[in-house]
Amino acid sequence: MERTISIAVQKSGRLSEKSLDLIKACGIDFSADSRVLKATASGFPLSFLFVRDDDIPQYVADGVADIGIVGRNEYDESGMELDVVRDLGFASCRLSIAVPRGFDYHGLKSLEGKRIATSYPRILSRILTENNVSATPVVVSGSVEITVDVGIADAIADLVSTGTTLKMNGLEEAECIYRSSAIMIANPDLDDEKRALLTRLLERIDAVMMARHKKYILFNLPEDKLDEAAAVIGGMKSPTVTPLMDKGWVSVQSAVDESRFWAVFERLRALGAEGILVMNIEKMTE
Ligand code: ATP
Ligand code: ZN
Repeated sequence: MERTISIAVQKSGRLSEKSLDLIKACGIDFSADSRVLKATASGFPLSFLFVRDDDIPQYVADGVADIGIVGRNEYDESGMELDVVRDLGFASCRLSIAVPRGFDYHGLKSLEGKRIATSYPRILSRILTENNVSATPVVVSGSVEITVDVGIADAIADLVSTGTTLKMNGLEEAECIYRSSAIMIANPDLDDEKRALLTRLLERIDAVMMARHKKYILFNLPEDKLDEAAAVIGGMKSPTVTPLMDKGWVSVQSAVDESRFWAVFERLRALGAEGILVMNIEKMTE
């Protein structure tokens, strides 16, 4: 039988959809029946284990799954020592100290002797210790934001992505103490065959992730503006240039970082670029 590598993915929650999207973009398909715990993929020797995110580091440590996609926060909080093979960039959030309105916050020192409610006591304690602050963690598994109001904590350390939940509970974000996004973790003792499968999978993931941050642009340009345009585009290699029938004009194509896209676009327009075509890139390698 063909060997497979197994991946633990969150069954349902903030990580699920993006984890599966990434895997699908790697050309790996599967029948996503949400009721099943396990599924086998087509297009790659991969099998899935759909579980709660909190359990993923443990499953990977025990070899129940070979690899997993989990928030860095859950991994760090688990205290396990696994291989972190990629930061996948999605599901980003921050662990922040939030205090009730009127709390005079001026840095972590303000938390000295206070009770701080959190679902991440390990991460919080590490940061407090690093900053020589001694405070009492109050460990709760959910609804951290109500603990101040109900009187069991003076402040909280909780995950935030927008801050609206905090505001609704009379709290203010005081300081971000830790950042997280989804990571891929792997059991450190994979055999050679599984390691080779992981390497193949990571190559696909890298190609997808790199393409996600780029746009492909194609435009016509007066030939004498070529050097200036190349400087504007920058990036990996010099752009591809093809002569046009129209004398004195060339066609230029290149990948551009999405973050710089509009700046590049405007500067190319200013150089006289015409017929600018912009395309999404599905996959790419360096
Ligand atoms: P499960 O039922 O699997 O235990 P959960 O309720 O613990 O799910 P989710 O709320 O789905 O978990 O969050 C999963 C991960 O998404 C978090 O551990 C974190 O890494 C990330 N995340 C991104 N934004 C936020 C946010 N605003 N609040 C909480 N987690 C966030
Ligand atoms: Zn969870």
